[in-house]
Amino acid sequence: MTSVNIDAHVHWAGNGSSGGGSWIRLSGPHRFLARFMLHQIQMPGDALSGDFDRIYTDRLLAWIRESSVRRVVLLAHDEVYHSDGRRMEGVGSFYVPNDEVLTRARAHPEFLPAVSIHPARADALDELERCAEAGAVMMKCLPNCHNIDCNDPRYRKFWERMAALRLPLLAHTGGEHTVPVVRAEFSDPRILRLPLECGVTVIAAHCATRSGWSDPDYFPHFVEMLQRYPRLYGDTSAFNLPARGAHARECLRPGIQERLIHGSDFPVPIQGLWAWARGIISFRDYWRCRGIRNAIERDFQLKKAMGFDAAHFTRVGSLLRVGTA
Ligand SMILES: [Zn+2]
Repeated sequence: MTSVNIDAHVHWAGNGSSGGGSWIRLSGPHRFLARFMLHQIQMPGDALSGDFDRIYTDRLLAWIRESSVRRVVLLAHDEVYHSDGRRMEGVGSFYVPNDEVLTRARAHPEFLPAVSIHPARADALDELERCAEAGAVMMKCLPNCHNIDCNDPRYRKFWERMAALRLPLLAHTGGEHTVPVVRAEFSDPRILRLPLECGVTVIAAHCATRSGWSDPDYFPHFVEMLQRYPRLYGDTSAFNLPARGAHARECLRPGIQERLIHGSDFPVPIQGLWAWARGIISFRDYWRCRGIRNAIERDFQLKKAMGFDAAHFTRVGSLLRVGTA
C-alpha cells in the first residue's frame, strides 16, 4: 500500500437510515454549516431527513473512483465521555459507530477503516481488540471535542496496547469549529505526549493550525515536537480553509514536509482562494482547481499545486496497521 495515493482524512457521516446506528444532531450554526457542506459535495439539502447514508456513500465512492487517489481512510466518530467513563449526554453533534466504517470497508476496497474509541469507555480495550481484529487501520479522535486528555495516566494501558497492535492514532489538533468543542485546551498538540511516549505513531491532524482566526496558534509546538518525537506526523487536512493554511509554506520546508501526510477533511468545504492569496499557488492553478467539482480531486490537485511532493500522497501507507481481516 506504500505506492498508492491515499486521502487519510475523510469523514463518514450518517443519519441512521441504513440501520447502522449513526446519528447527526445539529443545532444553531452547526445546522447551517452542515447544509453548506452538503451543498458543496452536491448532495440534496433534504438528504439529512432521507436516505442519507446511501447517498453520502455513493457520492464518496463515485468521487474516489474519478480521482487521483485510490483509497481513503474513512473515519468513525465516537460519542463524548467523561474521564470516569460515563457518557456525556447531549453533547456531540454526530456519531459514527465503528461498524459503520468496518462494514463499508469490507464492501468497498476504496475505504480503509479508521475506528474511534474514547479511551475512558469501560469497554475501550475490548473494543480496541475487536476493531483491530476486524481490520481497523487507524484510530481517530478529537481530544478537544471528545474530552480526551491523552496525557491522563489512566489511559496508558490503552496507548500501550495501540502501540503493540501498531495501530496509529489520528488526533485532531488546533481549534475546531465544525464540531462542538468541550475542552478547548485539549487542542494543544502537547496533549499527545503520553501516547507518543508509549510508542504510538501519532498523526496530528491539521498540524495544530488554527481553525478560526481567534484560536491560539499551536503550530510552533507541533514543529518543536517533530524534533523530539520521531513517531509524530501531521496531516494537511483542511489546509484549504482560510485559517488552516496559514503555515502551509512552512510545511513545505525540508524537515517538516517529510513528516506530513495528505488528507482533505471531506466533506469540509475547501477551495484554493486562500493558497492563491498567500502566493503559494498561481492564479492559473487556482482557477483550474476552482473548476473541479469533485472535492476529493480538487484538494489533491491543490496540494500538488502548493508544492507537496509525490511522497506526500503515499506516505500514510507505511504508517497504517496492516489488518488481519
Ligand atoms: Zn476532520
